[in-house]
Amino acid sequence: MNFHVLTLFPEMILQGLDTSIIGRAMAKNIITLEAVNIRDYTTNKHKKVDDYPYGGGAGMLMQAQPVYDAWKAVVEKINAGKGKKPRVIYLTPQGKTFRQSMAREFAEEENLIFLCGHYEGIDERVLEEIVTDYVSIGDYVLTGGELPTMVMIDAISRMVPGVLSNKESGESESFSNYLLEYPQYSRPEIWHEKRVPEVLLSGDHKKVEEWRLEQSLERTRKARSDLYEKWVEENQDYFIKKAKKEARQRKKEQKKKAASEKNTCIL
Ligand code: SAM
Repeated sequence: MNFHVLTLFPEMILQGLDTSIIGRAMAKNIITLEAVNIRDYTTNKHKKVDDYPYGGGAGMLMQAQPVYDAWKAVVEKINAGKGKKPRVIYLTPQGKTFRQSMAREFAEEENLIFLCGHYEGIDERVLEEIVTDYVSIGDYVLTGGELPTMVMIDAISRMVPGVLSNKESGESESFSNYLLEYPQYSRPEIWHEKRVPEVLLSGDHKKVEEWRLEQSLERTRKARSDLYEKWVEENQDYFIKKAKKEARQRKKEQKKKAASEKNTCIL
């Protein structure tokens, strides 16, 4: 997976992603990252990349020419004139909201180009020509596309095979199947008089799995009813099985109770 970032602040991207798991993945060449300075491609003799918007209004706009030429240079380098053009993601508050499912989908690509806007954004004409995906990281406005790009690269990289040391850890996390992750505990067993739930110490993997799913469901129901409803819609059989199991358990307990009452009478 090769990430190419078109930005006015390349050092922000390179420094921001150079540590921990993503830094390690880069060192191992599982992912590569290049930050291309859009300013290097301006034909303006003063190295200007922005200008006033036509029609007036606040702020400056990034101009089409340097953005287009920076993109063209990257595409030519990747493709050497052949193959399909890589997807170009423009980070914008006006885009589709970034989700885990998108991270998974983008992780299938070999190359991704990110375009970071700044100031009031970018001249619409160049966006029309080069952008394939408009993505927002949430309903708020940031000063530039660099932080959203880093957020996306981090989330996408985690979905690239080999980036996480344990494949499991990417698969059972929050959002992997609409559900938020269950609570987790580490040593010591008691901390601030709070005990780790007994079932997690039982060594019974089936019970642990059941408990975790229950916890995930409860958390998701409380915090994200939208996701919970989606899960319920796709997992009707879970509730049927659960109801059957509970009915069996009730019957067993009734039988046990009846037997003990009979024994008491005989005595
Ligand atoms: N004038 C633009 C608008 O109202 O849609 C906002 C421009 S914003 C100040 C500057 C740049 O930051 C944008 O071009 C975009 O690249 C980035 N940006 C800001 N908020 C963002 C968000 N929520 N998600 C993704 N990118 C964002």
